[in-house]
Amino acid sequence: MQRVTIIGSGIAGLSAAAVLAQQGFDVLVLEKNDKPGGRINYFREDGFSFDMGPSWYWMPQVFEDFYAKFGYETSDFYNLLRLDPSYKVVFEDETVSIPSDFKQLKALFETIEKGTGKKLEKFLAQAQYKYEVGMSEFVWKPGKSIMEFMQLKVFKSFFKLQMLQSISKEISKVVKNDKLRQILEFPVLFLGATPQDTPALYSLMNYADIKLGTWYPEGGMYKIAEAFYKIALDQGVKFKFNSPVTGFEYKKGKISAALTANEKHSTNFVVSNADYHHIDQVLIDPTYRSYTPSYWDNRSMAPSSLLVFLGVDEKLDELEHHNLFFDADFDEHAHQIYKEPNWPDNPLFYVCCPSQTDTSVAPEGKENMFLLMPLAPNLKDSAAKNEEYCELMIKRIEKHIGRPFKDNIIFKKHFSVGDFKTTYNAFKGNAYGLANTLSQTAILKPSIKSKKLSNLYFAGQLTTPGPGLPPSIISGQVAAQELINDLQ
Ligand SMILES: Cc1cc2nc3c(=O)[nH]c(=O)nc-3n(C[C@H](O)[C@H](O)[C@H](O)COP(=O)(O)OP(=O)(O)OC[C@H]3O[C@@H](n4cnc5c(N)ncnc54)[C@H](O)[C@@H]3O)c2cc1C
Repeated sequence: MQRVTIIGSGIAGLSAAAVLAQQGFDVLVLEKNDKPGGRINYFREDGFSFDMGPSWYWMPQVFEDFYAKFGYETSDFYNLLRLDPSYKVVFEDETVSIPSDFKQLKALFETIEKGTGKKLEKFLAQAQYKYEVGMSEFVWKPGKSIMEFMQLKVFKSFFKLQMLQSISKEISKVVKNDKLRQILEFPVLFLGATPQDTPALYSLMNYADIKLGTWYPEGGMYKIAEAFYKIALDQGVKFKFNSPVTGFEYKKGKISAALTANEKHSTNFVVSNADYHHIDQVLIDPTYRSYTPSYWDNRSMAPSSLLVFLGVDEKLDELEHHNLFFDADFDEHAHQIYKEPNWPDNPLFYVCCPSQTDTSVAPEGKENMFLLMPLAPNLKDSAAKNEEYCELMIKRIEKHIGRPFKDNIIFKKHFSVGDFKTTYNAFKGNAYGLANTLSQTAILKPSIKSKKLSNLYFAGQLTTPGPGLPPSIISGQVAAQELINDLQ
């Protein structure tokens, strides 16, 4: 039996592990941390259960399709709720709730800017086309050569997919109003670049947002990691936690063994799900690295983040499950993330309050809150800096809800740039990988297969198709298929 060693049990690692074990490989996953899921992380404290990573469940079909490969349905693992409103956006002078019903949303757009309803419909019809072509073809290509895209609908409809123009330009044709612009630009923030630098192809995210909806797995996002872990175990995958890989042994242009502090694991293949840069620049012997340090330094990374977990001894019903605080200048904050990296003067941030939907994540009568402020990668953080910005966000939330709650905070914890590095070996402390700019799309992403070692593959948010849970789930399957194809 051929042995595959997978480094990392993030969602992409779990996805690759399950597919390979199903195909008859002997699969071992070596994970640095003490549980599966990677960035789908959580902790429990004082009766609160805090998700530490993803909180937006989008594109539910990608999850459903993965489960179906193994004879399951989503409902075998968790109850999926569609949120309504999907989220709310707090502007300086008003708050806009985004209804899950499209007719209501169209009416809302019309109230804010007359004539936008019809334009929105047309914009979303194009976005649906991009979603369908993108999700059925584009994301499943390993991105090794431009030839992969030649016979595809992708190539035939290159102009319809709008790869070469920016999404911000496209959105400006739909709405003039600044608030509506920010609402339509928000989904691309998940892709780690500014709307000006993101191809209009990614209006497919607007389709995912508005038409496919925002969902929540009851019990918390960690339910997803549990589901993937169970599927991998069912298929016979073996796991070793608290086992960071520290290096490799090589034989004839291949990895022959993965090394941990006390063990040596002989292997026929390796799939690396750990942060690509960490494997390529830290663990692999310099002779076998695919890229140079300057290649990595020139990559545009998705932001890092300051995360703050709060347990509050009262209910804050003025908040929704998802709350975007856009009560500051979007472009100014983006400038301090991408152009002149610094702690932001006047940041935008996001508040997740899952206890508004799910009573299991906080004790009765209390609120579970997760604040996220995007930051430039590699920024130096400190307890004092993190606390300064935590205070700032709390003040802005208090201003929005119209009353103080700071004195009722009974639990508080920060997680910042440095923690991303130490917890996940994240390059520059990135939270969600590489930015999806045009120059970092498809064949221009770090390669799914090593350029120097013929039995090393990569899966996860730094390779194709990109950051986010649905792309990472797909990435694991694409890497596994690539390995299988190479054996045929
Ligand atoms: C704060 C935050 C919010 C997010 N919000 C959303 C959201 O709302 N919706 C969404 O879809 N996506 C969101 N994302 C992105 C999404 O979580 C990621 O894209 C996805 O989880 C990445 O999965 P992965 O498998 O590529 O990598 P990871 O989850 O990072 O997994 C990599 C694994 O490798 C392990 N590892 C590292 N080094 C070693 C080593 N030497 N040896 C062994 N193991 C090692 C790590 O411990 C980790 O478990 C968010 C991410 C963050 C951080």
